[in-house]
Amino acid sequence: MVEITFLGSGGGRFITITQMRSTGGFLINSSVRLYVDPGPGALVRSWRYKLDPRKLDAIFVSHRHVDHCSDLEVMVEGMTIGVTKKRGVLIASKSVIEGDETHTPAVSKYHTDSLEEVHVANPGDRFVLGEDELIITPSIHSDPTTVGFRMRTAEGDISYIPDTEYFEGLKELHDGARIVIASVTRPQDMKIPYHLTTEDAVYFLRGLKKKPELFVMNHVGMKMHFANPHKEAKFIENVTGVKTIVAKEGLKVMVHGDEVALRTLRPVRFV
Ligand SMILES: [Zn+2]
Repeated sequence: MVEITFLGSGGGRFITITQMRSTGGFLINSSVRLYVDPGPGALVRSWRYKLDPRKLDAIFVSHRHVDHCSDLEVMVEGMTIGVTKKRGVLIASKSVIEGDETHTPAVSKYHTDSLEEVHVANPGDRFVLGEDELIITPSIHSDPTTVGFRMRTAEGDISYIPDTEYFEGLKELHDGARIVIASVTRPQDMKIPYHLTTEDAVYFLRGLKKKPELFVMNHVGMKMHFANPHKEAKFIENVTGVKTIVAKEGLKVMVHGDEVALRTLRPVRFV
């Protein structure tokens, strides 16, 4: 069984600063527990769904933009049981680990020293995580070191396409994945550089030889939010024949045998 739990579905500056959609990233629970893109709220939203960061095995961060990495250090503290145990794996873009001309690293030496393994991920790299394998894929984004992945699991492949503009190679990289999670930031007719739109999602899905069983639209930006992302999802589904949904906080996707099932988790309340 592979379970994917979303701790948010928002992306972009304006959704992030208003929290009109939460921005915590998502957790893949397969042979290992892999947290992906711990943006603002990752720790708080995790506990809201009783997900204990002390049980994480690995963290993947696609790039150094704050909506993808702001909670990285605190999630590392979770994974290392409050920096008392050397454990866990961090796989992240070069910009996250080393910083770039305009950004400091997203994680301090204090935190990377607490981890068992730290890897700068480049397209084509492969990392074994338990019984699974992470194949790193490229992106074309304003952070040029941005990376995604295709995760090979016993239940088939799970693909993550983070912030990127559409490019031809995208189809080959993710053809045949069972589940594709993609940052579809903008609705139809509202293209901006370095991000995917509804039309891009359609080109991508139409061009696949073996289509996924589920396409999850993630990283909903403000324009997409107000354009009604569910309507955009319906459009994608109608023209491509691929079941398409919009991520939301508390959404759980379960892949087991022939089945892909969806659930919405109930949040717990804290005082
Ligand atoms: Zn970005």
